[in-house]
Amino acid sequence: MNRSENPSGAGEHPPFGVSRYYQALARSMDPTVDPIAAQFVPQDDEHRILPYEDSDPIGDRRYTVAPRLVHHYADRALLLVNDRCAVYCRHCFRRHFTGYGGGRITEAELEAACEYLERTPAVTEVLLSGGDPLMLGDAELCAIIDRLRRARPDCLIRVCTRLPVVLPSRITEALAEALGSRRPAWVVVHANHPRELTAEFRTAVNRLLRAGIPVANQSVLLRGVNDHVETLQELFSTLIRTGVRPYYLFQGDLAAGTAHFRTTIERGLELMRELRLRMSGLALPTYAVDLPDGGGKVPVESALIRIEDAAYVLRGPDGREYRYPREMDVE
Ligand code: SF4
Repeated sequence: MNRSENPSGAGEHPPFGVSRYYQALARSMDPTVDPIAAQFVPQDDEHRILPYEDSDPIGDRRYTVAPRLVHHYADRALLLVNDRCAVYCRHCFRRHFTGYGGGRITEAELEAACEYLERTPAVTEVLLSGGDPLMLGDAELCAIIDRLRRARPDCLIRVCTRLPVVLPSRITEALAEALGSRRPAWVVVHANHPRELTAEFRTAVNRLLRAGIPVANQSVLLRGVNDHVETLQELFSTLIRTGVRPYYLFQGDLAAGTAHFRTTIERGLELMRELRLRMSGLALPTYAVDLPDGGGKVPVESALIRIEDAAYVLRGPDGREYRYPREMDVE
């Protein structure tokens, strides 16, 4: 993996880095023509930062209850176990942390997280994220899960990772068995384009499934990458045939310097309408958006109240109205 720090500094742009495997999936290094290259090759557009964009668009900082531990939703907590990735996605929303967060979680940070979880029984699921948790070695990862299990034997562990997509060789039989022996656990991957669903990806998924680990996928709706109905249909139908549940299709977050990736919400709704006509419900993800100001994640189709000239107005989980900007210049 090539990796160099971005001289523009933390918080706005992820560093540059890509695995050789993922780079080889690109047919051109021009991010304006190739949907794989678009996800790892920096573009000048990243320097256009809009007033309402932020390096922490979903409000991780606001809901941080202990170092590296984010408790936003009542029954789930997010633990940022590592800041490193095999590919630094140009659309990454966790720009305040990814690549700049100080490496792996320390023992002291893990202890503090476990103490919080011990006194917070409402949390029944712990999401391991980052960065990418599977960039840690097997022993490090298992030690973290085992410590969490001692604190909360009842918790479901969700491993959020792009490695089956961008570095599938990381999913060894040994890793799959290690996770399988630490159930209940799920793996949630992040695939955005059908060309990412290679034979190597399928082998990685099969290892997890054989070890008893269910696998789901979260995609981001990305302009120029997957904002076409045929592309999404092929993505979701291939995932479901591989045994991966298409879980979410996210509207782009308001992450600093990512406006060139966002589509309008009208486009997202239109795509979902068309997909629903073409595909089984089993293969259809929920089209969701993380509301600005840490408002939380909501399904767009049921939360959208009205469309104003400058904003989409959506009902948040707390019953309040939130405004997601309507960017008329993006299409
Ligand atoms: S793998 Fe995930 S955390 Fe890492 S850069 Fe991509 S989207 Fe961000």
